[in-house]
Amino acid sequence: MIRVELLLAAQGDAILIEYGKKKNSLHRVLIDGGIKGSYVHLKKRLMQIPKEQRVFDLLVITHIDADHIGGIIELLKDESLEITFKDIWFNGFKHLSSKKVRGVLQGELVSKYLMQKKLPWNKLFKGKAVRVRGRRFKPVVLDGGMEIILLSPTKKALEKLFPFWEKEIQKLQEKLQKPLVLAPKPPLKSKKIDIQKLIQIPYEKDDSLTNQSSIAFLASYEGKTMLFGGDATQEILLESIKKYRPKCQALYLDLFKVPHHGSCNNISKKLLDRIKCGRYLISTNGAIYNHPDASAIAKIIKYGGYKSDIYFNYKTAQTAIWAKKSLQKKYSYRAHYPKNEDEGIVITL
Ligand SMILES: [Zn+2]
Repeated sequence: MIRVELLLAAQGDAILIEYGKKKNSLHRVLIDGGIKGSYVHLKKRLMQIPKEQRVFDLLVITHIDADHIGGIIELLKDESLEITFKDIWFNGFKHLSSKKVRGVLQGELVSKYLMQKKLPWNKLFKGKAVRVRGRRFKPVVLDGGMEIILLSPTKKALEKLFPFWEKEIQKLQEKLQKPLVLAPKPPLKSKKIDIQKLIQIPYEKDDSLTNQSSIAFLASYEGKTMLFGGDATQEILLESIKKYRPKCQALYLDLFKVPHHGSCNNISKKLLDRIKCGRYLISTNGAIYNHPDASAIAKIIKYGGYKSDIYFNYKTAQTAIWAKKSLQKKYSYRAHYPKNEDEGIVITL
């Protein structure tokens, strides 16, 4: 059994994966923690797990953007949860370059907590960077038997971030100090959806250095394979997929957490043509960036396979436009939304 839950994380990601054979001995992985303000939701959910089971196989902190790391900083500070992680994957400053780096930069809270609390840090990589290693796609096997294959970041992407790390950490600090943003922007004027027109919008690549440094990976268990895209770029994902599945073999997936909250800069026909998948997951409440972009969803509908399911963890102005029954019928897809406003969405495989 695999259960994937896109928790309420405002404009960010907080993903809980539970897997295992027995209900009372499940294995767990957490990917990211959403924004600082959405930590309440993450905490509420983690508290529902019986205390004796709060031993996670893995915590993945994909990259240093506030919508992924804000809730993680709160989680690492919070002693009341009594949660432990067998390993924590996070690429800090020391992992970006082979140049020797001393200590932790001021404001780099995650590295500080990991060191102060002596938490396991990239243990399954012998303390080294969590990244793609050439053409070797050797799986990392978690205790419960889940196999993980990294698709992003590459060595090159981490090195590119190295000279800008301090600046990015400063940006992060400013964002973390801003008032909490939980509510999505006011609804957009309802637009008529024209999928044929939307798919014509040209793809423009994501140049963000922090997104290029995002961890993205394949996770397989009991014959099911999932791709958790973090905020990774299409270029890096494609580069890895081509090496992992050469000779144009399609990459078969049971679930794809679409990168960067369904931004039109991170997914296009080129990537969708390379994978075969029936379930697409979008995590965002649309705040600040108005994600997901309509053209990205249109391309998923058009090129993402016949009768695919699209799961949104918020029903917002940007996501509700895909609920129209006539549109779902015409283009053979199904849109899914949370049953209640105070919970995310669950996908069971
Ligand atoms: Zn993000």
